[in-house]
Amino acid sequence: MGKLFYFMLLPSPIHQVSFRGKTLFVKRDDLIDPFVSGNKWRKLKYILQDAAEKNKNHLITFGGAYSNHLLATAAAAAKNHLKATAFVRGEMVNNPTLALCKLFGMQLQFTDRESYRNKTDLFEKHYSNDNSVYFIDEGGASKEAIIGCAEIIDELLEDFDYIFCAAGTGTTAAGLLKGINKHQLPTQLHVIPVLKGGDFIRDEIANYESDLSKLHLHLDYHFGGYAKTTPELITFIKDFTSSTGILLDPIYTGKMCYAIFNLMEKGIIEKDAKILMLHTGGLFGILGKIDQFS
Ligand SMILES: *Cc1c(COP(=O)(O)O)cnc(C)c1O
Repeated sequence: MGKLFYFMLLPSPIHQVSFRGKTLFVKRDDLIDPFVSGNKWRKLKYILQDAAEKNKNHLITFGGAYSNHLLATAAAAAKNHLKATAFVRGEMVNNPTLALCKLFGMQLQFTDRESYRNKTDLFEKHYSNDNSVYFIDEGGASKEAIIGCAEIIDELLEDFDYIFCAAGTGTTAAGLLKGINKHQLPTQLHVIPVLKGGDFIRDEIANYESDLSKLHLHLDYHFGGYAKTTPELITFIKDFTSSTGILLDPIYTGKMCYAIFNLMEKGIIEKDAKILMLHTGGLFGILGKIDQFS
């Protein structure tokens, strides 16, 4: 396990930036590692520890063709001399994320959407007689992931009024809320689902944490749905990045950061609140949308 931490920048630093007259604190989980970045490292940490304890040397996981989780798993496997195989949803394609996965030595198995739906079936079908394999669910979703994400809160040395994070499955948000409740912080957690109909995230979080009193979901910042963008979002990301030197991705962190400033403009969040924005990484998401930035 020593090796796992050796490469990682932990605890991740908090940088203070100023944008549109507002001071913002940014927890730079994007700096933990260039490839095993952000919440994907937080989620993998105890999964990899468990795999090591069980003497498994072949990670099997699942994801879409632009999955930050696949890239994180591929890089983490390579650093730790583990094999990695991914079932990739949909027909065979190539893109920058998958090319990097392959560079790190990950084997890719493109899988039609129908078979992809049942991941345990897929795993059983291909690996039932293989003792070396370790199953990692899509996005790293697991109870180990929640524990890893809660550690983000353990690293904080001062209080914030609000913590903001982006949500896809809600696992990261669940871990943050667990950490906030464990430390009995006054901090409120504001979560920005990046997909349409993100209300399910409340139920997802409730599976892991019963006290939801500090949770606020903002459902109107999906920009048309998962991985959808608008010119307004792209303009915001360009403006923020050129003004602060901190890159945002258009899938997750860009939408969350847009929400922070929009909620302040609307008066829903006070302008003088002390806000910590969790930068969950995922910067290679920019490459999938690069034509929109040029
Ligand atoms: C995967 C990802 C998320 C979403 O995390 P969940 O735990 O699934 O909610 C947020 N930000 C980035 C950059 C991601 O890659």
